[in-house]
Amino acid sequence: MAASPDVFHARVLAAVDERTGRLPSPSMAYWEIFPFETDDLTVVPVVAPVLPEPARHGAGGVDCGACASEDGTVWRHAHWRPRVSATTSGVPLRLMLVSQAHVDFPDLPDERAAEVGVLLVHRARAIESLPHVARAHLSKWGDGGEHLHVFAYARPEGQRQMLGTLMPLWDDVLPPVPLDERDADARAVAEALVRSFGGAVARP
Ligand SMILES: [Zn+2]
Repeated sequence: MAASPDVFHARVLAAVDERTGRLPSPSMAYWEIFPFETDDLTVVPVVAPVLPEPARHGAGGVDCGACASEDGTVWRHAHWRPRVSATTSGVPLRLMLVSQAHVDFPDLPDERAAEVGVLLVHRARAIESLPHVARAHLSKWGDGGEHLHVFAYARPEGQRQMLGTLMPLWDDVLPPVPLDERDADARAVAEALVRSFGGAVARP
């Protein structure tokens, strides 16, 4: 039987080190892509589950920032718009695909779900076509805001320390890329989407 939140939490607490009161360091701390030294690394204290979970930003479309603002939009379509994130990025390009309608990812109607699948592939293809980009990493979390948003992080060519899972941490650690470079990449991706998917280029 699946563990209830309390049972899950009790199981986690049972794994806490009696001396330090913390969980052991994660195995990924010893991966070559981990962006921090492991000396003095400690896992934050385990906190109890919060039930019921608090509402996310924009729940039910009320006071939703994604509905209210199209700032940073680089490409526009009847159903979708990718935006450059409001803050600058450490990677060459960080795009957030947002639905025009207020909808949570699991609630997408099948027609839109099929469309976003194709669009995410086209977006990845466009980003990976940039000559200085090796990979477009995708991330869908949705814990902060309810409005559908799927990130793409452009992993710079040759940067083998930035493979995979820990890209968001690297993006936060790296110095911000110049805005003119970021905007040129965003425009190239938008133009590629116009050619392959339709829609129109927008000014970020
Ligand atoms: Zn919204």
